[in-house]
Amino acid sequence: MNKQTIRDVAVAGKRVLVRVDFNVPLDGTGITDDTRIRAALPTINALRDAGARVVLLSHLGRPKGTVVAALRLAPVAERLSELLGTSVATSTACIGPEAEAVAAGLRPGEVALLENVRFHAAEERNDPAFARALAELGDLYVNDAFGAAHRAHASTEGIAHVLPAVAGLLLERELAVLGSALEQPERPFAAIIGGVKVSDKIEVIDHLLTRADELLIGGGVANTFLRAQGYEIGRSRHEPDKVALAAELLERAGQSDCELLLPTDVVVAPEAADDVPHQVFAVDQTPANGMILDIGPQTVQHYVQAVESAHTVIWNGPLGLFEIEPFSAGTRALAAAVGHCPGTTIVGGGDSIAAIEQAGLSDRITHVSTGGGASLEFLSGRMLPGVAALAER
Ligand code: ADP
Ligand code: MG
Repeated sequence: MNKQTIRDVAVAGKRVLVRVDFNVPLDGTGITDDTRIRAALPTINALRDAGARVVLLSHLGRPKGTVVAALRLAPVAERLSELLGTSVATSTACIGPEAEAVAAGLRPGEVALLENVRFHAAEERNDPAFARALAELGDLYVNDAFGAAHRAHASTEGIAHVLPAVAGLLLERELAVLGSALEQPERPFAAIIGGVKVSDKIEVIDHLLTRADELLIGGGVANTFLRAQGYEIGRSRHEPDKVALAAELLERAGQSDCELLLPTDVVVAPEAADDVPHQVFAVDQTPANGMILDIGPQTVQHYVQAVESAHTVIWNGPLGLFEIEPFSAGTRALAAAVGHCPGTTIVGGGDSIAAIEQAGLSDRITHVSTGGGASLEFLSGRMLPGVAALAER
């Protein structure tokens, strides 16, 4: 990565404003998964050890520019404090006199978490005045919020034009792992793309066609491709207005060195429910009243073989409607294959990560990305605005 990181700058005694991604899942009473808080600990601890006064900024949920009590960051500060083993100061605002007093009151090695930046509509507008108000709280800016780096918001992008700005360790690691998979993958390099919408995945498929050796397509995404191949897909979820685009991608794949694999058999049911009969069909036999809800066993076998012999694997998107048991076999089999692949394995996307966790295989994955949208955009070859704005090395 050609960007400066916290290792390149002196931080002792400085107020270091760190944008983290503490957008954790909540269930009304508490935090259901603290992965994102844990992921920020290396940067926070490195800064504390170096004598910085650490001021953290984050968003949580989608308050859309107003104060939403349920989206205050205080419970997150509490969990962070447990994980750090030290108290974490809080503020009920992220700009203005209270926030400034909290930041100014920190001693070297101490940590504060300010209030949800998305309580201000100016955050998502990337309002320069709001970015300057945030910048008042620090001497230096660190972006460690990989999960928000694809957004050009005031706390992820605007502020980097006001303060000296460098990358945190999590951001650095995400870019290093994803970047080397794209730039110098150990081959064979297999990419698995599933999920629902082709429109979400077109760019990543297009970009990976020039990088990967095998592209394995499943999920609702595959349905649109099957349609483009001329198959009947019954009432399957797909995007009719993206069929022509899928056909174009198939043509491009034909001219590339990358092999694009589509399901050869599928699991079909009349409804997306667990109490209905389901049946395996060859792709050219899908009944007109059926819905394709998973890849079939023959396809699973092909895909698992490709993953097992790969030295680099990227996975984004489940291969079927895995939340419903009868349609989870494809996703479970691929999760196991990725988990057991001895090569470099990278998993991105909330639902794919959930599938890996359900299988108890997270520990066996080289890199579980903390940013779904950000990792997809990066793998599509796009420069992330939150990264672009950081100081060059
Ligand atoms: P990720 O969060 O890993 O990026 P997506 O959000 O793109 O993945 O897609 C996940 C969703 O796709 C899951 O809810 C899953 O049920 C759904 N899905 C996958 N295959 C199908 C299918 N054949 N029909 C309907 N929904 C599907
Ligand atoms: Mg998802």
